[in-house]
Amino acid sequence: MNRNPHVAIVGATGAVGIEMIKTLEKRNFPVGKLTLLASARSVGKKLKLKEQEITVQELTKDSFKGIDIALFSAGGSISKEFAPAAVKAGCVVVDNSSYFRMDDTVPLVVPEINGADVKKHKGIIANPNCTTAITLMALYPLHQAFNVKRIFASSYQAVSGTGAKAIEELERQVGQIVAGKTVTKEVYPHQIAFNVLPHVDSFLPTGYTKEEMKMENEGRKIMHHASFRASVTCVRVPVYRAHSIAVSAEFEKPVSVESARLVLSKAPGLDLVDAPEKAEYPLPLYVAEKYNCQVGRLRMDCALDNGLCFWVAGDQLLKGAALNAVQIAEELIK
Ligand code: NAP
Repeated sequence: MNRNPHVAIVGATGAVGIEMIKTLEKRNFPVGKLTLLASARSVGKKLKLKEQEITVQELTKDSFKGIDIALFSAGGSISKEFAPAAVKAGCVVVDNSSYFRMDDTVPLVVPEINGADVKKHKGIIANPNCTTAITLMALYPLHQAFNVKRIFASSYQAVSGTGAKAIEELERQVGQIVAGKTVTKEVYPHQIAFNVLPHVDSFLPTGYTKEEMKMENEGRKIMHHASFRASVTCVRVPVYRAHSIAVSAEFEKPVSVESARLVLSKAPGLDLVDAPEKAEYPLPLYVAEKYNCQVGRLRMDCALDNGLCFWVAGDQLLKGAALNAVQIAEELIK
């Protein structure tokens, strides 16, 4: 791989795409050249990498000639249609959509957990689901120490997880309510302002949503833990940025709050924020725009044997998407 790769961002104008540009810049990724791709709607729009203005181009199957790494963030159907063309042109694809995640030939990577899997790629590497990635940042170090059997979890997911239009929807609805106007809905099936929706992604015949099952399915693949089980309820909350997850985890080996705290305090990419007596615990408002996830509210689970409860929060546009993708690109050029 070229040490100063020509990088393309597919979906550069979206919520994740914009964060990808910022993350490449902030981490001083050695970009040789940056190509920004989006739909025909965005052609001609200008975005900045450092002081350099770059004009957005329309994504086509011919967009990938000469590109070394393509960070895809434009949805599953775009990845399905265009990622094979990118690979054919000799480019390595890091894909943010769910389309390739469970494909056996595609590594699904959180660099702090299974960074070595990057080397197994055959042209495409998948970025995990954002709620799963943030949860695993705390769960995986605990698993290494105590062997996790199963978890029960509820997520509190920010609207930016749905993309740029959902951020506008929350802003608009808050304005409409404050002004005493009728609330209009475009993105979610119900009003999101001053509400919570127990509905993220589409429903499966089991009653779980696709999003809820990603924790078990993607968790097994990332942790290399085939018997891991997860029962999850995913909830959308009127928070702009950063997801939080309340987790009850059951382990094979005895666990204590003290031993868990020690493990979590040393975990990469994670900060322990756990002083409830001082009202200090992870909050989405304060973890937003930070690279590290945060974990706190550690306590023994009173309803499980060898069970530990914790609360983990992280910026899903970063660790759940842009940062994780750039970290994978960093692995590629090592
Ligand atoms: P978004 O804000 O809606 O942005 C979508 C991007 O895709 C825009 O740049 C859009 O370009 C582009 N796009 C749409 N249709 C296109 C087409 N036909 N051809 C080329 N480009 C097209 O969505 P997002 O939140 O950034 O999410 C993007 C992807 O990342 C999704 O697969 C999502 O599941 C995944 N993801 C998102 C998050 C998150 O926290 N938001 C986390 C993890 C993974 P235009 O501006 O020209 O329409």
